[in-house]
Amino acid sequence: MTAAAFSDVEGEWARAIKVLEGAEVICLACHIRPDADALGSMLAVAQALGNGRRQVIASFGDLPFEVPAILGFLPGLELLTPPDAYPERPEVMMTFDAASADRLGLLAGHASRAGELIVLDHHASNTRFGTVHLVDPAAAATAVLAHELIGRLGVGLSADIAVGLYAGLVTDTGSFKYPATSPQVHQLAASLIATGLNPGAVAHELWDRAPFGYLGMLSAALGRAVLEPDAGCGHCLVWTTVTCADRAAAGLSLDAAESVIDVVRRTDEASVALVLKESDDGYWQVSARSKGEVDVGRACVALGGGGHPQAAGFTAGGSPAEVVAAVREQLLAQCGPPGDQCGPSGQLRGPPGQLRRPPGNGQAAGR
Ligand code: MN
Repeated sequence: MTAAAFSDVEGEWARAIKVLEGAEVICLACHIRPDADALGSMLAVAQALGNGRRQVIASFGDLPFEVPAILGFLPGLELLTPPDAYPERPEVMMTFDAASADRLGLLAGHASRAGELIVLDHHASNTRFGTVHLVDPAAAATAVLAHELIGRLGVGLSADIAVGLYAGLVTDTGSFKYPATSPQVHQLAASLIATGLNPGAVAHELWDRAPFGYLGMLSAALGRAVLEPDAGCGHCLVWTTVTCADRAAAGLSLDAAESVIDVVRRTDEASVALVLKESDDGYWQVSARSKGEVDVGRACVALGGGGHPQAAGFTAGGSPAEVVAAVREQLLAQCGPPGDQCGPSGQLRGPPGQLRRPPGNGQAAGR
């Protein structure tokens, strides 16, 4: 990093602290259909900024306004306000884990009208849609940046604040397995655990529990998994679907299907894993994972979604075969011209996939 770049970063942090410390009302928002990093980071900062010193409003732009069941253990949920009660023109607004304004859903307009808009995020694809940018693609999670912010505000870490940050950190690093898991990540985890939080209890909430009906849904999804040997560049692709019928049989909501990708992506033969989750309105929310050879983030951005090189997502209509074909086309585009190391790519290209996009904001989350 150059000295100039360093001072820019420091300048942005200084501006953010000045704006937050001078505000009487602070409006927070994280991306729609929040994951643990988005909601955990926002609730940690909401608790740190609160304490009666100023009014803090925290929300995300989904209606109906529902916290994913898996995140029901996060401290600070009582601080949430539905988006229809959010100030129309926030004086100071801050966003969490949102790479672009459209990821704010119903609160995107509020962000465009905000007097100051502080964007806290770690997506390389961040469009810098605010007035102050705390954006670091090298950060393993937005929670890393939220922790930095809380420290710079001079607020000590309570166990309740630490749980949200830890949930974001452990989720976005794949339980400290992804390459971004640096010594600093473990040091941050240590300082969060030192507040007294129970890491086993957080892991249990996030990964180790489900109603009995989950087993049937998982079984159906895994039973129809397909391994395709030719996904371009010599890479294999494994994919499956979780349909509405799979979920309906057990009365499960869409977030119950979120963890299916963590089983599917284990497939040794495949470099890329996809799970197509059918939403209640009939679109496919696609989770994509890569082992590193190909950039699924780039592929998903091209398909209207977002995410990171190894974990990303998008939403589309059409048949599962059409959706997978569109992903395959994007993966092939990363291989360079035909005749490269792509193998027999002729039959893979097929007609250019014109995917049906969902109305309004249909992006799927990608960490
Ligand atoms: Mn994140």
